[in-house]
Amino acid sequence: MLDIQRTKLRLLNLLDKEITRQNNNIELIASENFVSDDIRDALGSCFTNKYSEGYPANRISGNKGRYYGGCEYVDEVEQLCCDIWLEVFGAKENYHVNVQPHSGSQANMAAYFSVLKPGDTILSLSLDNGGHLTHGSKVNFSGKLYNIVFYNVNKNGLIDYEDLSDKIKRYHPNLVLAGASAYSRIIDFEKIYNIINQLYLDGYNKPYFMVDMAHIAGLVAAGAHCSPFGYADIITTTTHKTLRGPRGGMIFCKKELAKKVDSAVFPGCQGGPLQNIIYAKAICGLEAMTDSYKEYIYQVVKNARSMADAFKQMEYKVVTGGTDNHMFLLDFSETHPNLSGKDIQEELDKHNITVNKNCVPNEKRSPMQASGIRIGTPAMTTKGWTEDEFVKCAKEIDKIIENMQK
Ligand code: PLP
Repeated sequence: MLDIQRTKLRLLNLLDKEITRQNNNIELIASENFVSDDIRDALGSCFTNKYSEGYPANRISGNKGRYYGGCEYVDEVEQLCCDIWLEVFGAKENYHVNVQPHSGSQANMAAYFSVLKPGDTILSLSLDNGGHLTHGSKVNFSGKLYNIVFYNVNKNGLIDYEDLSDKIKRYHPNLVLAGASAYSRIIDFEKIYNIINQLYLDGYNKPYFMVDMAHIAGLVAAGAHCSPFGYADIITTTTHKTLRGPRGGMIFCKKELAKKVDSAVFPGCQGGPLQNIIYAKAICGLEAMTDSYKEYIYQVVKNARSMADAFKQMEYKVVTGGTDNHMFLLDFSETHPNLSGKDIQEELDKHNITVNKNCVPNEKRSPMQASGIRIGTPAMTTKGWTEDEFVKCAKEIDKIIENMQK
């Protein structure tokens, strides 16, 4: 049996070690970031104690009212949180938002549940081309519940919009999904919207257009990436990546889908919302409105570009030849065929540099090995790094990889 006191000490010790790791390591995982003290305080606030199944009153969805008493303050916080986020994305006029999803995956699940039936067809970016698990992987609920068809990237690693259009014609999807976990270029939401609408005028069914902007939401908020608002019917996001907020998700939808989306989140696939996280999401939204956040995001993008350029100068293969956003992929399949992404990730770990292995377009290895690594600049930019530090870091990574070859 576990000794309670000893185990508690062990846990405290692990927390200390994680604090040291986060303070000392070079954090290059594209989906990670460091939240502000205000957000950490919000996460640790007493809102965590409150049950509040349901929604605040006056939702346009009509899903109003809570199943518990004592919700007068969480009601106000949740409503403020929604107002803040609609303002961040300039979406008050036409969109509704649900801030209750516990994560990006749950946001995607509820988004699908709101407009699809099991067996319906989703057209999404294939996983080894940058898509996410919840975009149709066989091992995920999305691949088990829905008929998944993938569009791909072209030989330059760029989204193949012609392939997307052909697949709409061929497979008549109920939902077309744009968004990625590992794609370093601008995604042209307007173009996809126009493809869908032109095909509709040509007599094809009109699928829902959904965007999962989890990775680039911070760039969209700051104006460093084109916005899906005005084009997509449903937009999901996480709040913990470039948005630099608490771990969680949100769903925006055109106002006419509000009831479906709210019902899909609760009672469709969640119970009580995490009110401390919703409180922190509200603080995160306020932070995202500031000039200093915008400056931060533009620095994130400049840093990613400088680091990708440094790797190119050292003759690494950067997928798509560079980046327009906060991350890029290095593909070792031709330059270092004897090394997997996993080998490199593990070696970098030994040098306190944290990255993740990642599949590359036309991947030959399993996802557990992979032939590439993904590098992102949001976390170290939060720590104050600028182009110089990222270029130096690229040179350091090169040295480590060259030593692995010896
Ligand atoms: N969507 C995209 C594009 C992602 O990259 C991720 C996570 O990496 C998710 C959804 C899922 O988010 P979560 O880990 O919060 O479930």
